[in-house]
Amino acid sequence: MAHCCGGNEHDSLAKSVADARDAILAASLPVRGTENVHLGQALGRVLATDLHAPANVPAWSNSAMDGYALRSMDGDAVRRVIGRSFAGHPFKGHVGADECVRIMTGAVVPEGADAVLVQEEAEVHADQKIIPQTVSKAGANIRQPGEDLQAGALALEAGTWLRPAQIGLLANLGIAELAVYRRLRVAFISTGDELRPLGGALAPGQIYDSNRYALHGMLERLDCEILDLGRIADDPESIEAALHSAADMADVVITTGGVSVGDADYIAALLGRLGTINFWKINMKPGRPLAFGQLGNATFFGLPGNPVSAMVTFYQFARPSILKRMGKAAPWIPPLLQLPLAEDLRKKPGRTDFQRGRLLQTPAGLQVAGIGQQASHIMSGMAHADCLIILAAEAEHAKAGSLVDVQMLEGLV
Ligand code: AMP
Ligand code: MG
Repeated sequence: MAHCCGGNEHDSLAKSVADARDAILAASLPVRGTENVHLGQALGRVLATDLHAPANVPAWSNSAMDGYALRSMDGDAVRRVIGRSFAGHPFKGHVGADECVRIMTGAVVPEGADAVLVQEEAEVHADQKIIPQTVSKAGANIRQPGEDLQAGALALEAGTWLRPAQIGLLANLGIAELAVYRRLRVAFISTGDELRPLGGALAPGQIYDSNRYALHGMLERLDCEILDLGRIADDPESIEAALHSAADMADVVITTGGVSVGDADYIAALLGRLGTINFWKINMKPGRPLAFGQLGNATFFGLPGNPVSAMVTFYQFARPSILKRMGKAAPWIPPLLQLPLAEDLRKKPGRTDFQRGRLLQTPAGLQVAGIGQQASHIMSGMAHADCLIILAAEAEHAKAGSLVDVQMLEGLV
């Protein structure tokens, strides 16, 4: 794929990160198929329909505190305790004048009562009487029916990515089954004659196929159906056969390696035969070469081989595209924080820099620092980073104390 990556730092033909991402997102269409799953299996899936609350949540008015349910109109009069309302065991009677019911958090507020006096404000007497130390206002410490969601209200919209809080909300509504988009099938392939599987010894010049494991991890976090198609040698027939079958079985095909300077032109020609692939020079560091396009019915990403570049380009380009294709509604791009730099960072103007960084808690507040070596093969830096520091293409050295854009890796993984 030699077309993609010659040139110098200031190559005017290079594509900006934003332009590349816009083009990628425009070409990434959501899957259509849906399936019904049990809520217990729905984590990480994308909701295919709007879901409304079938009933009020909470369904009954209930106590927010442990205490005594009583009538506010009786002021601070001594109350007789006539029964108990515990969670799951409501009091069946009616609370009348100068009466109260011992009540626990979450228990139904009995008929007649319109306030809960917290137990710390009640002086308790042995003869089943309490003396309120304060006057309760109507509604005090009571959770009203429908306060969380009214019956019929929109609970979650189609396109919601179901994380633990959304699963909890749906369980709260009693929704056991729901329609989600089908899982996106993502195939990935490592290319390179030098790659060896884990476990064996390395001959001179050989390396372990580490991208395979990092990619698997990033895809697993997105709850895709992952098709690990292994490693292929740098040979046109193998590559053609592997890409052909990958495009048949997957919605997205990702390769690593083989898109940088020095790779034979035949790869570009070959991909051109199989689909419509763009070979881009992205104006970024790391991750300058990127191939993107359509391979049969699949979306194709040719990520660079260097491990840090592969991860950074996956997060900037493949992840947003995959989220959109999964049916997730926007946003597909993680938000940027602006944080002060704890130290000077070196940078040459020309390309958008994605430096690996880590957050620092300082007496002056949260700051961010680089993790040292920033070369695209330094995986230990990536492994010690908790964020990417994004420095604009035209920017030069960034000074300690200046505000920089920070993308959290924690939110991505
Ligand atoms: P390439 O893009 O194929 O020229 O590869 C760029 C660099 O990344 C080379 O040093 C490769 O050895 C390395 N590389 C390529 N694929 C992998 C992989 N799967 N795991 C680790 N390193 C890789
Ligand atoms: Mg290679």
